Amino acid sequence: MELLFEKSRAGRSCSILPMCDVPDAPLPAEAIRKTPPQLPSLDENEISRHYSALAKRSFGVNDGFYPLGSCTMKYNPKINEEAASLRGFTDVHPLQSAATVQGALKVLELCGSYLCELSGMDAMTFQPAAGSHGEFAGLLLIKAYHRARKDAARTKIIVPDSAHGTNPASAAMAGFAVVNIASTKDGYVDIDALKAAVGPDTAGLMLTNPNTLGLFDPNILEITDIIHKAGGLNYYDGANLNAIAGVARPGDMGFDAAHLNLHKTFSTPHGAGGPGAGAIGCKAPLAAFLPNPTLRSDMGGLSFNNNQPDSIGRIRAFHGNFLVVVRALAYLLTLGREGVPAVAENAVLNANYMMARLRGRFDIAPSAAYAKGSPCMHEFVVSLEKLKAEKGVSALDIAKSLQDKGMHPPTMYFPLIVHEALMIEPTETESKETLDKAADALLELRERAESDPESLRSAPRAAVIGRPDEVKAARTPVVRYNFG
Ligand SMILES: *Cc1c(COP(=O)(O)O)cnc(C)c1O
Repeated sequence: MELLFEKSRAGRSCSILPMCDVPDAPLPAEAIRKTPPQLPSLDENEISRHYSALAKRSFGVNDGFYPLGSCTMKYNPKINEEAASLRGFTDVHPLQSAATVQGALKVLELCGSYLCELSGMDAMTFQPAAGSHGEFAGLLLIKAYHRARKDAARTKIIVPDSAHGTNPASAAMAGFAVVNIASTKDGYVDIDALKAAVGPDTAGLMLTNPNTLGLFDPNILEITDIIHKAGGLNYYDGANLNAIAGVARPGDMGFDAAHLNLHKTFSTPHGAGGPGAGAIGCKAPLAAFLPNPTLRSDMGGLSFNNNQPDSIGRIRAFHGNFLVVVRALAYLLTLGREGVPAVAENAVLNANYMMARLRGRFDIAPSAAYAKGSPCMHEFVVSLEKLKAEKGVSALDIAKSLQDKGMHPPTMYFPLIVHEALMIEPTETESKETLDKAADALLELRERAESDPESLRSAPRAAVIGRPDEVKAARTPVVRYNFG
């Protein structure tokens, strides 16, 4: 496909900007470029066709099943988009005075209070723009808490190996040493290893729950208790709250802080680097450290407080991705008290249904847990390690073959503790018919791995680009046009 630069012809244009109706404000000389930018010259028709052609080559939740584990790529109600596109929300300016944006501030307050109720936390901030950003901010809260108590020895964060990859990364970025503990054969936190790891240097624990194997740790209360008794705090990675929303609360499980991915769980599409919100909730003893500004309510109404003296400071410009919060609030108000737990029940039901359909022909990891009939939560992980050894068909081959069946592949090669992993999250919004079709497709591919493995290794057939060099694409992406 030709790039816009290649389609460009000198002299073509589509000036659609209105005439300037304010006086020119010249830029300072040092800000003016020496040569004009090499922008493509095209008419509107060409541009429109170019982007339509690109859109047709991509695959989204509106095109088909998208079971990307640990990401919750689900259908989100369009009415929440409509709420987020109301002029009163889109046209406010972050520097407007509080008195003129009381409605927008009310959205933050209301959504914050609902999410506190759902997570069992006392205070909430919407500043972080992503789950990982929330983790980082949450860890800074923990750091500030210990520092305020003059407990400088607490420099270590314990992270089980079934955590999301961002957990150890965030802990390291927040300046902690990361203590990794291995999971048991069942995929749970190893209680003995945890007891051995805690001490006066323990700042806290970061736990992804349900973990990346789709398991809810049955020892959760004992785990958080061990950390608290050692003087540490517990951080909950609640990126995928759809597994437990309205059914169980991190705050009741002994967690002191948690992030919730409003993109993923609360109706903002996740992926492609779009705007997100990694809302962080915390218990009262951490609230004083929340990032500036915080929301304050007094006689004059709602306003921002920029001067919390113990705050970890500002972690993002302005007030986070506000329209993501609007969608979350619209979603919560639509679902209500009955609807939110129904989301969790369906997320878990759908994942278990699919797992049950695949179980006989695919190895579900960790086999020790699932062989005992343990249910999964909102997702589960298939290991193709044996299939690869026996038939030379890898997780990548199955993923590529699924594309030819009109399905987005699941997350692959994650979590790292499972070899040849396919991590499947059907989500709560899929029908039984869709799940059956997807399970049939996977089972058919499993059969073909025996009868015609070569056809899987050469998939996909239908895609324009079938098998890019993934390492090269990630390490040396070419994102600039070479004018040569
Ligand atoms: C997605 C995810 C994260 C990170 O969220 P981002 O918004 O992508 O930074 C962290 N933990 C878990 C369990 C996740 O699924």
